[in-house]
Amino acid sequence: MRILAHLQAVRENRPRHFWAGAAVAGVSLFGMVAAFGTTPDNMEIRDFQRTVVEPLALTLGAADASESGAFVREERVQRGDTVAALLSRLGVQDEQAFAFLRQQPETQALFRQLRPGKIITARTSEAGELLALTFPLNGQTDTALVVEKQNGKLLASEQTHALSAQTAMKSGEIRTSLFAATDAIGLPDAIAMQMVDIFSGDIDFHRDLRKGDRFSVVYETLFDQGQPARAGRVLAAEFTNGGKTFSAFWFESENGQGYYTAEGKSIRKTFLRSPLEFSRVTSGFSQARFHPIHQSWRAHKGVDYGAPIGTRIKATGDGIVEFAGQQNGYGNLLVIRHQGQVTTHYGHLNGFAPGIRKGVRVSQGDIIGYVGKTGWATGPHLHYEFRTNGVHQNPLAVVLPSAPPLAANQMAEFKTQTDTLAYRLDRIRGMNLALLD
Ligand SMILES: [Zn+2]
Repeated sequence: MRILAHLQAVRENRPRHFWAGAAVAGVSLFGMVAAFGTTPDNMEIRDFQRTVVEPLALTLGAADASESGAFVREERVQRGDTVAALLSRLGVQDEQAFAFLRQQPETQALFRQLRPGKIITARTSEAGELLALTFPLNGQTDTALVVEKQNGKLLASEQTHALSAQTAMKSGEIRTSLFAATDAIGLPDAIAMQMVDIFSGDIDFHRDLRKGDRFSVVYETLFDQGQPARAGRVLAAEFTNGGKTFSAFWFESENGQGYYTAEGKSIRKTFLRSPLEFSRVTSGFSQARFHPIHQSWRAHKGVDYGAPIGTRIKATGDGIVEFAGQQNGYGNLLVIRHQGQVTTHYGHLNGFAPGIRKGVRVSQGDIIGYVGKTGWATGPHLHYEFRTNGVHQNPLAVVLPSAPPLAANQMAEFKTQTDTLAYRLDRIRGMNLALLD
């Protein structure tokens, strides 16, 4: 049994014991070790990694002298556990409290939801009198049954609480695919996908990735009473693709929020590099599985993306649907008109997304249709064209305009918010290079 006496979190407006679990996690996860990841099926493929988990200041509570004499303990529910056995392990020696828990309608969840693995936290006096208890409720990650002694009386209630956040940093190198690299370092898919979204104006993740590309990411992990609950937001990321390094920092101000380069330029581009939704399926779909009639964009004025039928297609920029219908070799074709005399063309579609028809306004990233093989297509793929003033451009090479940069008077605040993140990226990049030597 772990005794967690005097450990407290510093959040205001919350019962102190409620956060004890999270605070403990902050301590025990500090300094998680680095390791090499090796894909099990091919020993030659190695994705290097470095993981550092750092608790945010707010999850580390300071000891509070006023609580001396109280013990906070946590226990994990075991298979076949009983409430009586749990309370005993938690150091609760309190007949009156046990009777209260058995009789109150509000506390019946404790008896009915003893799911193995749940963490129950109790605060007791030195004599074993129950002062407080928290028990996470089924199906609602943020809600717990809370029993507290107030003015000598036990009270039970359901309480919702915010999750505590810790920042984690990970770094990886691509040897085969993005997901092989992120799996090897244990980066959550939600974070990998955020990273793909962040750099989707600069990198076509279906076509541009190269062996040796590297990435580093600083992100939040949300904890629910000491248990990892889910991935949070990417705070900073860096991606080196084909020798070119892109970086992005999350910035929030009263004027808005988004990702910016270290120089305060918006990372968001007017167009996405790839119209295809990135996923485990599309990333593993070999371009060799279909034989495009034309090999280069010049030969047929577009770029082909091999993908399974039904793969979702996104509008690469804001605009208005100019055409949605059949057209000869294109099969089902969608054309979007954007600002600046730009049109984008999506061919061989299996179908259009609901509501997509001529005249409809679409935003960048909206799902507009699905990959198919209608028209002159030997296999399922998306044919994508980018035209300016009706002239075909190479979508892989066209220079895309960015969203406006931060105003000069915001730069000081931006630097303050992002300095630590830049330092962390620097640190983790250095670690990774050391591993590669
Ligand atoms: Zn094509």
